[in-house]
Amino acid sequence: MRPPTIHVSFPRPSLPVEVAALRHEIRELLEQERRAGTWQPGGKSWGEYNPALTRKIAERGWIGLTWPKKYGGKERTQLERYAVTEELLAAGAPAGAHWVADRQSGPLLLRFGTEEQRLRFLPPITRGEIYFCIGMSEPDSGSDLASIRSRAVKVDGGWRLSGTKIWTSWAHHCHYMITLCRTEPPSADRHAGMSQLIVDLHAQGVSIRPIRNLTGEHEFNEIVFDETFVADEDVVGEPGGGWHQVTSELAYERSGPERFLTNFHLLRRLVDGLGQGDRPASEHGLRELGRLAGEVWALRAMSLSVAGALERGETPAVEAALVKDLGTHFQQELPEAGRRLVDQEGIAEEALREELARATQLARAYTIQGGTTEILRGIIARGLKLR
Ligand SMILES: Cc1cc2nc3c(=O)[nH]c(=O)nc-3n(C[C@H](O)[C@H](O)[C@H](O)COP(=O)(O)OP(=O)(O)OC[C@H]3O[C@@H](n4cnc5c(N)ncnc54)[C@H](O)[C@@H]3O)c2cc1C
Repeated sequence: MRPPTIHVSFPRPSLPVEVAALRHEIRELLEQERRAGTWQPGGKSWGEYNPALTRKIAERGWIGLTWPKKYGGKERTQLERYAVTEELLAAGAPAGAHWVADRQSGPLLLRFGTEEQRLRFLPPITRGEIYFCIGMSEPDSGSDLASIRSRAVKVDGGWRLSGTKIWTSWAHHCHYMITLCRTEPPSADRHAGMSQLIVDLHAQGVSIRPIRNLTGEHEFNEIVFDETFVADEDVVGEPGGGWHQVTSELAYERSGPERFLTNFHLLRRLVDGLGQGDRPASEHGLRELGRLAGEVWALRAMSLSVAGALERGETPAVEAALVKDLGTHFQQELPEAGRRLVDQEGIAEEALREELARATQLARAYTIQGGTTEILRGIIARGLKLR
């Protein structure tokens, strides 16, 4: 029997006219703040933490841009938000302090939170005052999230949370973590009995321990909860409904341009460097740059299409998984291709060589964080009814 023909398409949305003016404003602010010394391109963009720049971005109203005005948002479109994130990434601006709250914790509260939670958390997020981190992975549960063992037990007025989370990016700088935990013992339905709690990371019974990444930097952490009290009003949605919520949260996490633009600045540096040394750019070098630029352009078209689908209220899970899979592989390929180019073309700039070496180390994580390549391919295969 012939397999069914399945189509995945990437229709290109037209960008609203307001986007061009918005891009201009963002570039202007970034340049102004770079000159003022608020930030320097550091190579990690949304993986780098800079509260001063976050506050400047907040003052312009670019955090929670699509959210209702009553929660501090600006009620602008998803495509305008896309332009903001794209500009920050393309410039390599350190936007990590507000990234998670803007991308997923805020939207999660908008969709599943209580009115009291929205009024309490969303306005300070839009002002760049409070930061959130993601509490999903545990020492023995990463891809198989349903196997988590952190547990909250009901007590008077709230819950007592115990367990360990791991790989939690920026927890040491964040105010809150949205924590997935069991609020009922495991049952035959593996996805039942989980809840999401908003945990104050400064509360009693929370220990945050650093884990160094491959470059030796302190970016992620192990967090231990020892009977930490979480009030009833800090449960997101209904107790027990955490699985449905966390899968929606993962869709926000996987769909953005950070999955192919995190190290875009390297491409820019290579374009600037080629032909600047003691030899002119070779035809091979120019072709290679053209190939890399072509890949970025195709990824961008696909990613914009996902943003357009989100704007129409659709859930493009297969398309988003495809963009993340292709995008993260591109981000791993870029420093490798860059190192070859630097050698072949005799680009002598030491700073660029060092940056390419660091980028090669950082790039290992891209096909793991936010869902591994194998897990994404499983989602794609299921979506295409091949599994
Ligand atoms: C830089 C970085 C930042 C991170 N930040 C956070 C964070 O802020 N918060 C958070 O909660 N987590 C975070 N993570 C954790 C990340 O989500 C997990 O590492 C990821 O989900 C994989 O889980 P694991 O490490 O337990 O690997 P495992 O799930 O044990 O996977 C090991 C290998 O087995 C493969 N595999 C597993 N299951 C299957 C399957 N069913 N089919 C085929 N292959 C399979 C995987 O693809 C992988 O290659 C971060 C990770 C990194 C690298």
